[in-house]
Amino acid sequence: MTTNGIMFHSTNKNTPDVDFKTAIIRGQALDKGLYMLNEIPKLTEEQIYSFKDLSLDEIGFIVISNIIGNIIPKPELKKILKGALNFSVPVEHIGNNDYQCYLDQGPTASFKDFGARTLARIMEYFLEEDNKNAVILTATSGDTGGAVAQAFYEMNRIKVVVLFPKDEISDLQRKQMTTLGKNVTAIGITGKFDDCQRLVKIAFADPDLQHIGLSSANSINFGRLMPQTLYYFYSYSSVIEKKGEEVIFSVPSGNFGNLMGGLIASNMGLPVKRFISAVNENDEFPKFLETGKYEKVEPSKKCISNAMNVGHPSNFARLIDLYGGQIDETGVMHKIPDLERIRKDIVSYSITNELTKETIVNFYKKYNKKIIEPHGAVGWACLEKYRIDFPEDNSYKLINFETADPAKFPEEIISLINITPKIPKSLEIIQNKSEFPNPVVINDYSDFKNYLVEIFNK
Ligand SMILES: *Cc1c(COP(=O)(O)O)cnc(C)c1O
Repeated sequence: MTTNGIMFHSTNKNTPDVDFKTAIIRGQALDKGLYMLNEIPKLTEEQIYSFKDLSLDEIGFIVISNIIGNIIPKPELKKILKGALNFSVPVEHIGNNDYQCYLDQGPTASFKDFGARTLARIMEYFLEEDNKNAVILTATSGDTGGAVAQAFYEMNRIKVVVLFPKDEISDLQRKQMTTLGKNVTAIGITGKFDDCQRLVKIAFADPDLQHIGLSSANSINFGRLMPQTLYYFYSYSSVIEKKGEEVIFSVPSGNFGNLMGGLIASNMGLPVKRFISAVNENDEFPKFLETGKYEKVEPSKKCISNAMNVGHPSNFARLIDLYGGQIDETGVMHKIPDLERIRKDIVSYSITNELTKETIVNFYKKYNKKIIEPHGAVGWACLEKYRIDFPEDNSYKLINFETADPAKFPEEIISLINITPKIPKSLEIIQNKSEFPNPVVINDYSDFKNYLVEIFNK
């Protein structure tokens, strides 16, 4: 490994390798592939066992140093991780060998906070180093916009512009973006998520906008993926008793960034018996495992675990790459991966909306009135299926991830168990704040473009 850390290749393999800094600043590779590690560094069994005594950001410092070398000086990296990962990650024993890890304690109450907050600080560091400014442009269908807006809020060198479909997101989701002001501009579009995404894509391809340093903070950026390895190491360390003990993870999956974090962790040496990729009715992945053929679900199915309504997950390209195959951004498989090895490492179940709802109700009844939200419930339903299908693995500890706070889905929870979930402090504050007015109603690209330039020059 050089001092600049491990190099990255594009999953499309049609553009030169780059270092970590370039991978972060670009977000996506020039050939439209995703940046992926050329090799995965290994931690020793001793090292991983010693994580038992460390905090999340201390674990992060060791894991991330192994990936990026000295491209960010050690004291700076420490500061970045301390600032980004400043919330708790409770791991709770639910029953038998079953555990739940709560990834919903960050400021926007979803697991997106891990990636967004770390990426924001890393980008700010690199821009400072180069004495440059940037505009982060993001389209959101709900959760990502809030996490990105909050994460980049008050960064000196970065302006954030978020586009959201005005009539398709919840009040709370909107307020996470519109109550901030300062360097954050949230623009409600009359249309759908796809209309927001279209404007963003045209802007990225526009040569006239090259000078404003447009960048993206969506989940294709490796900088969002890398911190998602950390809660695997952390939750593992909280539950194991013996060095080298293997555990099983149930991973609510949509765009497969969550699962990729786990796969990178296990390739770094984390003892994982198996991953369960928990998906809703968007079942392209379990079908792929079964048949070896990849077919996107188009249009994607609408389920109550709405952050997982993805019919063509972008991180699938990284997963295929990790197992020696190659698939492009349109879903065409150019090289078949090692299917047997994927099947050995990962089991996947598709959970219907009906079963998701049943799981929320039964979890509440069975576990002392604990409330689980729709994404975590998909994971929990898979945990229960796995326990039935693999009784020989009953002695292994199994950790499910709760990826959001139930208070983000009040209507669903009330209709199922007739309880109003308690709103966490961070969301309560937002609820009572006033919103900045929608700056301009932008309905064609040239208005939008002028607006971006204006923001950059402010
Ligand atoms: C994004 C998200 C997921 C799925 O994570 P991916 O990385 O897209 O697989 C699960 N739960 C919640 C609450 C999310 O916001």
